[in-house]
Amino acid sequence: MDFLKVFAVALVAFVQLFPSAIGASSWGYFGSDGPSHWADVSATCGMSSQSPINIIPTDTLMSSMDAFTLTKFDTTTGLSLNIVNNGHTGILLGQRSKCPGGGLTGDYNTAQLHFHWGKTDAEGSEHTVDGTRFPMEMHIVNYKSSYASVSDAAGHSDGLAVLGFFFEIGDTSHPGIQKIVDALSSITVSGSNTTVTAFNLNELLPSSFSEFYRYSGSLTTPTCNEVVTWSVFPQTIKITSTQMDVFRTLQSEEQNDDGNHNMFNNYRPVQAMGSRKLYANFNPNAGARPSVHLSLSLLALLSCILSRMF
Ligand SMILES: [Zn+2]
Repeated sequence: MDFLKVFAVALVAFVQLFPSAIGASSWGYFGSDGPSHWADVSATCGMSSQSPINIIPTDTLMSSMDAFTLTKFDTTTGLSLNIVNNGHTGILLGQRSKCPGGGLTGDYNTAQLHFHWGKTDAEGSEHTVDGTRFPMEMHIVNYKSSYASVSDAAGHSDGLAVLGFFFEIGDTSHPGIQKIVDALSSITVSGSNTTVTAFNLNELLPSSFSEFYRYSGSLTTPTCNEVVTWSVFPQTIKITSTQMDVFRTLQSEEQNDDGNHNMFNNYRPVQAMGSRKLYANFNPNAGARPSVHLSLSLLALLSCILSRMF
């Protein structure tokens, strides 16, 4: 009974958030369905406050925003979470969690999380930092709890708050990632779904995620609604190359550039920042100071040596 209830609620949430994924494929990541044609599917995709963006740390404005507290993500004992291959990504659906903090006004409910990844470990993330692309990016989608549903929230400028986390290749992975990887083998077919035992969202996240970038943007898939308060975190989640390969076994509803249906490169190119401002609740350039000082010190030392030589 619990399972059926959760599945039904999750399916409704999924259809509400991804209406264009139902029925014939009208958008994708390759060829005539690719991102450069999305404005034909939804005019909003051609507007000026789109996501993702290239994050330039030296262009950020400091802003004091408190950290997120993501301690609850369907931790109810015995509850199952639905994980879906919607033909574009793998989505883990949750229903009962809250997403407080992060300098956001009001309460947000966590609706789902999903991933964007590359054909190789050299690409995959949607946001980039100084032009650097990561092998994968996870999006935790939250909607303002004062709105009736995800689809209702998607019609309001403050409706959604999405948290973006980058992945980085490591010899050992973050322990929580294997829970997702294990489930992927059951949803390789486009449109299929399975359940995973509920777990605490913190199990997927970096040990510290108090620092983040903030800007106003959009959904990164059609209909590209400009209703998203973005928080992108600089601290990465570690994953192994072998685990990344499992994501690429998912089958997409569209044919890729290799002529098969392996799901990869399901990321949108970065969009123009325009007149928007990028904020950070930390000094992203603080880490660069020692190397600058070191370079200056080396320069001073070198000039000193040279002056003695000549
Ligand atoms: Zn996404």
